[in-house]
Formats: sequence, structure tokens, C-alpha cells
Amino acid sequence: MTKTYPVEKIIKALNLGMTDIGENRVQELIEKMDALGESAKYHMIGHLQTNKVKYIVDRIDLIHSLDRISLAKEINKRANKSGRVIDALIQVNIAREESKFGIMEEEAFPFIEKILRMNNINIKGLMTMAPHTDDEKIVRKTFNGLLNLSEKIKEQNYSELSMDILSMGMTNDFEVAIEEGSNMIRVGTGIFGERNY
Ligand SMILES: *Cc1c(COP(=O)(O)O)cnc(C)c1O
Repeated sequence: MTKTYPVEKIIKALNLGMTDIGENRVQELIEKMDALGESAKYHMIGHLQTNKVKYIVDRIDLIHSLDRISLAKEINKRANKSGRVIDALIQVNIAREESKFGIMEEEAFPFIEKILRMNNINIKGLMTMAPHTDDEKIVRKTFNGLLNLSEKIKEQNYSELSMDILSMGMTNDFEVAIEEGSNMIRVGTGIFGERNY
């Protein structure tokens, strides 16, 4: 995850074999898209405001933070105009934290069913963030909860949906995330060093 890190640092990492970058603010994502062009794949990992979708829809590779029907409708509309189908992960607030975005687990099925009717969005899996705590049990339970939910969704055999991606784990908890089934970790400081905001 490359938020706050300068383009020069990112270019070095791309030259060393990194392929994908993630940003949590649209403004910064666009700056990096403009600077790096086709040399990277782009992930939107942060809260996405509906009115900003139009700025990224042509170039985004994966949106990790699909968490509202209003956002899905806007992505679908803009993607249709651009002749694209946008890959997205549904962000789920497994730990039910007030401070976090994401749908509640129990909303997952109706949410998915609405999005399945939108032709220009492809659901590729789920994303979550664990509570910021040293208590490994809580972290593990959160990641395990997302894994379980993805398995329940798979059992429905929805056509035109895949649960291939589980985006979970950051610098301080990615080991636990991988143990619980993550196949897409989002590591920033662990690669680029502490941020100086
Ligand atoms: C910043 C961020 C990360 C990476 O965090 P680090 O602790 O620097 O690894 C991962 N996911 C999201 C959604 C983020 O905003």
C-alpha cells in the first residue's frame, strides 16, 4: 500500500518486481496513476465517495471498498459509460466497529443479490479490516469471520460472482490473516517504512 509514499519510492519498488499499488484517497490515487501509467495495477482500498468514482473508473483495477448500494450504482453507471466492467470486493465490517466502513455480515446476501443485477460490476471477493489491537484472538476471529462468510457465499453458487479474493491483513496483522485464508494482504509500512504524515 503506497499511500503517503512518494512516486520515486514506488518506482524503485516497481523496478524490484512489485506489480500492484493501493491508495486510500482518490486525489492521491490519480496523482500516482498519472505518474506511473501502465507500469502498475491500481487498487482503491479506502472509503470511496460516490462523487469521485468518475475520476478513477477508467483506470482502476480493483476497488476493495464497495460498501453501499448508492456507490455500486454509481460505479455501474460510470463503468457502463466507459465500456468497462469493474472488479470489486465487498467490504465487510466483521468486527462491527462503529469507526469502520463496510456492510454488516447479515446484509451480505441481499447486498450481493442487488449488485449481481448490475452488469458493469464484477464481484471478486471480500475485504475486511481487523480492530487495531494487540489481542491476536480478536484479530483472528475477525479474519476467520470473513473466511466463513466467503464460504457461505460460495455455497450459494451464484453465477457471475467469484469469491477468489480475500483481502485482509496489514503490516501488523498479515501473518494471522494469511493463516486465516487471506490471499491479498495490504502492506504499507512493512515495505516502505514508517509514514511521516
Ligand atoms: C493504510 C492501509 C493499509 C496498510 O497499512 P500498513 O499498516 O501501513 O500496512 C491497509 N489497508 C488499508 C485499508 C489502509 O488504509
